[in-house]
Amino acid sequence: MSLRRSWVDSANSADTDFPLNNLPYGVFSTAQDTQPRCGVAIGDTILDLAAVEAAGLIDLPGGPLMDLGRWNPVMAAGQEVWAALRNRLTDLLAEGAAEEGDLRPHLVAQADAVMHLPFDVAEYTDFYASYHHATNVGTMFRGAENALPPNWLSIPIGYNGRASSVCISGTDIRRPWGQLKGPNDDAPRFAPCNRFDIELELGAIVGTSSTGPVTVAQADEMIFGYVLLNDWSARDIQAWEYQPLGPFQAKATATSLSPWIVTRAALEPFRTGTPERQRDLLDYLKEPGPMLYEIDLAVDLAPDGADPVTIARTNYDQMYYSAAQQLAHHTTSGCPMRTGDLLGSGTISGPEKDQRGSLLELSWGGKEPFAVGDQTRSFVEDGDTLTLRGAAKGDGYRVGFGACTNRVQPALPDPYAR
Ligand code: MN
Repeated sequence: MSLRRSWVDSANSADTDFPLNNLPYGVFSTAQDTQPRCGVAIGDTILDLAAVEAAGLIDLPGGPLMDLGRWNPVMAAGQEVWAALRNRLTDLLAEGAAEEGDLRPHLVAQADAVMHLPFDVAEYTDFYASYHHATNVGTMFRGAENALPPNWLSIPIGYNGRASSVCISGTDIRRPWGQLKGPNDDAPRFAPCNRFDIELELGAIVGTSSTGPVTVAQADEMIFGYVLLNDWSARDIQAWEYQPLGPFQAKATATSLSPWIVTRAALEPFRTGTPERQRDLLDYLKEPGPMLYEIDLAVDLAPDGADPVTIARTNYDQMYYSAAQQLAHHTTSGCPMRTGDLLGSGTISGPEKDQRGSLLELSWGGKEPFAVGDQTRSFVEDGDTLTLRGAAKGDGYRVGFGACTNRVQPALPDPYAR
């Protein structure tokens, strides 16, 4: 597929994240109108969809669906409505569209917009599905012989996270306090996290709900779209608390998302299969077709007052399990899935050193600090700005996610001090 041209000139650049091929959904406000509302990114602008729908230029079954400042009503409406909206927007924004004059007043410069969480997060589940990440972390925590847990090649492992601390790109992230005990400490202590970290992930957003077990093919069709997801992680809290029930407070501080939901439809041209199985999967987890996507991913770190440096580059095609497999597995127990459920892919790491999606791996547990410009890092420092970037690359165009960027603030004084 090649670039589809739009009457919005900035959408026709090979460098934009948001050509007509993409049409990602967000929620924004402006200084003039502080009410958060639904919009679609096109080039360097946003089309105000609440206004366009109110003007009668979009008429969805059961509408209005875009007047509430969140995408959940559209997500719940199902695949036919998703397709109808995308087709209508593609027509309205295409070069030569008769509606150009009616739509122009509803374009807002992205530079003038404040972005908000694009959907109400129902619940958040995080997985552990990159073979290279699981192998790296397992080697550090348990040794090379026990790197992969015995269940890893059979089950997409996950834990139930917190929806309450999911936040949007741009939100400052505060270094947490927690209970710490190093391997050589006699007793635990309560202190600020000293090994604060990020995880480069893709978040899959559940559109339509389910009430019982679903197949991988059904799961794929339930997914509305994807965002970049940073699973902020306190490694020293995690190391002490994680056995036997998995991470708890280590991952409850914050999970940040890029502001634009890139729809499954926009990613269709970039589908690819999961890697060769190292052990046969049970039938219910077998994929009926390619369920991953080729999406180039990168992590930038900017120390306080310094320029950003790219510290990792990898690709979503490295995952061992797809979001559809994870979602299908999530339902096996009969667990209902809801509109707005968010599934983290798990940290995405490739086989090479510079393809690792966490500082824990990049610095090999802090033993091998790495260069960031003229500084070094083992873990995230106060004042650092971390940015996740991602885009699928087509012929002369890109389907980009926009950035997920957050700055780290120092820990507050002891919250329990008298
Ligand atoms: Mn994670």
